[in-house]
Amino acid sequence: MSVIIDDTCITCDACLQNCPVNAIVDDSHNPTGESRYYVQPEKCVECVGIYDDPQCAAICPSIGCISWDLTYTKDNEAHFMENDLYAISKTANGKVKSPSLREKKYRNDIPNEMRGVGKEVQEEPEEMNEAG
Ligand code: SF4
Ligand code: SF4
Repeated sequence: MSVIIDDTCITCDACLQNCPVNAIVDDSHNPTGESRYYVQPEKCVECVGIYDDPQCAAICPSIGCISWDLTYTKDNEAHFMENDLYAISKTANGKVKSPSLREKKYRNDIPNEMRGVGKEVQEEPEEMNEAG
C-alpha cells in the first residue's frame, strides 16, 4: 500500500471500476464491516508501473476521500496487522498476506511524511480567479 478510503466515500463505484489490479472491494464486501469501499492493502500497488498516478483517486468524485497510507512493507507490519482499519486476506493455505510475507510496490516519490491519515492523494483544485 497503498491508499486508503475514508468515511466520506459515497459508494459511487468509480474507483472499483478504475483499479488496474482489482484491489478495491465495495461496501458490501468490505472485510472490516464499514459501509464504504475498501482498498485491500495486500493487493494495491499504488498503480506503479501501470499509471503515473493512483487511478482510484483520479476518478473519485469525493475529493479528499482517498489518502496515501503507509507503504505495505515489513517496516509497517504492525500498522497493517494491529489496526481495525484493515482485515488482511489469507493465502490458499491459510497464511495471512502480511507485509512481511508479501511486500507490495509503492511510489518512491511519495515520502513517509506525505503518508498517513488525511494526506490526500487528490487535492482540492485551487480556486480560479475570476477573469476580467
Ligand atoms: S492506487 Fe491504483 S492499485 Fe491502488 S487501489 Fe488505487 S487504483 Fe488500485
Ligand atoms: S470513487 Fe470515491 S466515492 Fe466512489 S466508491 Fe470509490 S472511494 Fe467511494
